[in-house]
Amino acid sequence: MPLVSMRQLLDEAAKGGYGVGAFNVNNMEQIQAIMEAARETQSPVIIQASRGARAYSQDKYLFHLMLAASELYPEIPLVMHLDHGNSVETCKSAIDLGFTSVMMDGSLQADGKTPATFDQNVEVTRQVVELAHQKGVTVEGEIGVLGGVEDGHGAGGSGHVTDPAQAVEFVAKTGVDALAIAIGTSHGAYKFSSKPDGSVLKMDVLIEIHKRLPGVHLVMHGSSSVPKDLQDVINQYGGKLKPTWGVPVEEIQLGIRNGVRKINVDTDSRLAITGAIRKVFIESP
Ligand SMILES: [Zn+2]
Repeated sequence: MPLVSMRQLLDEAAKGGYGVGAFNVNNMEQIQAIMEAARETQSPVIIQASRGARAYSQDKYLFHLMLAASELYPEIPLVMHLDHGNSVETCKSAIDLGFTSVMMDGSLQADGKTPATFDQNVEVTRQVVELAHQKGVTVEGEIGVLGGVEDGHGAGGSGHVTDPAQAVEFVAKTGVDALAIAIGTSHGAYKFSSKPDGSVLKMDVLIEIHKRLPGVHLVMHGSSSVPKDLQDVINQYGGKLKPTWGVPVEEIQLGIRNGVRKINVDTDSRLAITGAIRKVFIESP
């Protein structure tokens, strides 16, 4: 199947009441694993590249690997998405390359670290929407600031939870197709120091935003579950992960019942590949 726009995929997901996994990739092996899983579960899938991954792969390697996936798995609806674009120029370069969806993360300034003002965020996101929609490309925006750092991108710390009223204004002023919100999740393996409850994972904020914006596709970033079994494999074969908790699957499912259509996962795939490599190296010295 040719690549599809993310808007098409998320509209279908909204009709069907399900969510779509969005997985970060850096190399061929990750793409192979994701596509095999998509085939096994007969699921549409979003594969996404961060700025770091694009730089690492000189853009072209990763682009053609993703294109190869669409040819090798013709039955799977596939979106090629830019994760955390930091400027209009970065988003434009992805669109020119052939991505079918881009994220303009205007919650941070172009340095990818300093929180931006609401007006700065609206302005830069609106420009990307104008540019992208002319070419049928989907745009994800972000309001509120996520915690942690991903591939050098992020404000660090615990972030800033999204204000529902601001989310409504942001969507009206920018025309984004999908909206990333900050509800206490963060990027990376160390999200929570114990199983998260409502004091740190603000599902009530998500539910309130969905009530006010029932027609908008919501995106949960930092949604790796950081499963114990994957942590155990890494530590069993010489790794040194400290005890950590991610976003429980039942919270993701609650999100899906409340407008979440795109679920971003990076850490879990990294844990899986790290554990597998360690195991093979130790068992086959
Ligand atoms: Zn993210």
